[in-house]
Amino acid sequence: MPLVPMRVMLDHAAENGYGIAALNVNNMEQIQAIMEAAKETDSPVIVQASRGARKYTNDAYLRHLMLAAAELNPNLPIAMHQDHGNSPATCISAIEQGFTSVMMDGSLTEDGKTPSSYQYNVKVTREVVDYAHARGVTVEGEIGTLGGIEDGHGAGGTGLEHVTDPVQAEKFVADTGVDALAVAIGTSHGAYKFAQKPTGEVLKMTVIEEIHRRLPNCHLVMHGSSSVPRELVDLINKYGGKMKESYGVPIEEIQRGIKHGVCKVNVDTDNRLAITGAIRKVFAELPDKFDPRDYMGPAREAMKKVCVERMVAFGQAGNAGKIKPRTCRQMVGFYKPKGARK
Ligand SMILES: [Zn+2]
Repeated sequence: MPLVPMRVMLDHAAENGYGIAALNVNNMEQIQAIMEAAKETDSPVIVQASRGARKYTNDAYLRHLMLAAAELNPNLPIAMHQDHGNSPATCISAIEQGFTSVMMDGSLTEDGKTPSSYQYNVKVTREVVDYAHARGVTVEGEIGTLGGIEDGHGAGGTGLEHVTDPVQAEKFVADTGVDALAVAIGTSHGAYKFAQKPTGEVLKMTVIEEIHRRLPNCHLVMHGSSSVPRELVDLINKYGGKMKESYGVPIEEIQRGIKHGVCKVNVDTDNRLAITGAIRKVFAELPDKFDPRDYMGPAREAMKKVCVERMVAFGQAGNAGKIKPRTCRQMVGFYKPKGARK
């Protein structure tokens, strides 16, 4: 089937009380790992590419890899999402490349580092919503600012500096018309999220609950939601890595979020850890190997295992066949009444 707008999947997830992992890709093996995991678990798929990923792969390679994924898996709904678009131009170029969903992250200015004003955020997000919805493409916005930096994008800091204000979140959704909203609740991008197991002091799940109470029909997105499993970090360090001790977002906290309006859960670091550990293991144990397939194969397998675990834990497993797919073209009509209010 053709790539599906993300909104179709998020609506199904919200109606049926599950979350969908949004998994980042930069190469063929990562896309294959995700698709194998989805096939095995009958899961809807959200694949996302950051600006850095689009630069690394070149849009043409990425586009054709995604078309291959769709061709080989005709029964799985797949959305292709731009992660952290830094400007309307980035989002528009993604849509031109066939992405079915874009994130306009106007919480930061175009440099992807400096926190912006509310007015700026509304202006650029509204611009992307108008362009995207006219083409049936889904839009995610962000209010509040996440901590940490990933792929050169992020404000840095701990993640507690710009926690989303639920009152402002409600106004932002009304002002912009976004389909989904990324909220900042103390999480950070990258592998070093928390120095100890997060408590309610640092991971503000109550903020999500309050936002969901105010916006029961808006799909919420948790960014920086890798769990940083101890065994993956230990494997890397066992085979020569030097990763500091760190804690991610516990799976049970993500599941709590899913009960309160979270439909999309961004996971990247855990897959990076799995890939790195698998490659280090081959290099350490079989130093005579030099065929990339000897370590990329196990890396792909290790990432697939993480994807399967998340797809089961978030509840998306078993739902691919239940989603009635719609194309971007069909979604244009869905948005039209909204666009007419202007
Ligand atoms: Zn993010």
